[in-house]
Amino acid sequence: MAYNSIVCIKQVPDTAKITADAMTAEGTVNRAALPAIFNPEDLYALEAALGVKERFGGTVTVLSMGPPKAASILRDSLYRGADRAILITDRRAAGSDTLATGYILAKAIETIGSYDMIFCGRQAIDGDTAQVGPQCAEKLGIPQVTYLEEFLNGEADRVRLRRNHGNGWEVVESTLPVLITVVSTPDAVRPWAARRVMKYKKARIPAEVISPEELESLKAKGLLLEQWTMEDIHADFDRCGLAGSPTKVYRIQSVVLTKEGFSKVEPTEDGINGMIHELITDRTLG
Ligand SMILES: Cc1cc2nc3c(=O)[nH]c(=O)nc-3n(C[C@H](O)[C@H](O)[C@H](O)COP(=O)(O)OP(=O)(O)OC[C@H]3O[C@@H](n4cnc5c(N)ncnc54)[C@H](O)[C@@H]3O)c2cc1C
Repeated sequence: MAYNSIVCIKQVPDTAKITADAMTAEGTVNRAALPAIFNPEDLYALEAALGVKERFGGTVTVLSMGPPKAASILRDSLYRGADRAILITDRRAAGSDTLATGYILAKAIETIGSYDMIFCGRQAIDGDTAQVGPQCAEKLGIPQVTYLEEFLNGEADRVRLRRNHGNGWEVVESTLPVLITVVSTPDAVRPWAARRVMKYKKARIPAEVISPEELESLKAKGLLLEQWTMEDIHADFDRCGLAGSPTKVYRIQSVVLTKEGFSKVEPTEDGINGMIHELITDRTLG
């Protein structure tokens, strides 16, 4: 049996390079101020899906929600082996928290229609919540397996997976369709394939295309990538973007460790209490 997989991928600001002007007054990320990268764990999610396709056949579709410049991670995924790439880009999705993001991705997956597995990264390096995958599964009403380390085996209606559960791992089985969040894969993330780079380097989403002639020629060559709006996925606008997001990011700041050296804590009740008091006083805790 062959499996049709969808991989949710996110373009994220390279948080290792956060600067003072990285945040807007509204508490959302000023994406223009930071280099944008492929969310690291989403590369493992893509590798897991491509590994399944290699062993069992089927297709891999990558799906991302973001500004038009996120088209670069769609091309990156096609260079590595994805078969189809879709970008949901719409100003009304801007500022979506995880609730809104999970909803929008679920609506897009319903629009794609048939699938056996959805792969997500465990978490994104900017929001760091690890909430979108599980929320998406809840919206779709399908089982979820989180923290995948290895795809063991699959039959027509179920799969066997090894997942990390913090201080060890376990083998679980799930019926299909299932949503899987990925921590890592036994195999390294495969690099770009030269033949695929040559094929897809000119692939563009409509928002990247200047003239109608170029649009027609890309379409004719099968190099026009799919670009979806909130209408295309039949989304309820009130559940998208800032309108659909109960979470308000109050402030983001870089944590700067000011204190030099270290202090010795006696392994006694008083010692520990003293340490906790100190951590609360200097706002490291609480
Ligand atoms: C510093 C910061 C703090 C935030 N805190 C919160 C918070 O506490 N609560 C909250 O609700 N929102 C929060 N947000 C907003 C949150 O980042 C966005 O909602 C974001 O779109 C999804 O959450 P995440 O980055 O935590 O992703 P995660 O839930 O960590 O992502 C898990 C996986 O979901 C998939 N995924 C996530 N986003 C997308 C996407 N846009 N397209 C395709 N696949 C995707 C990827 O596979 C990813 O690996 C925060 C944002 C920032 C920058």
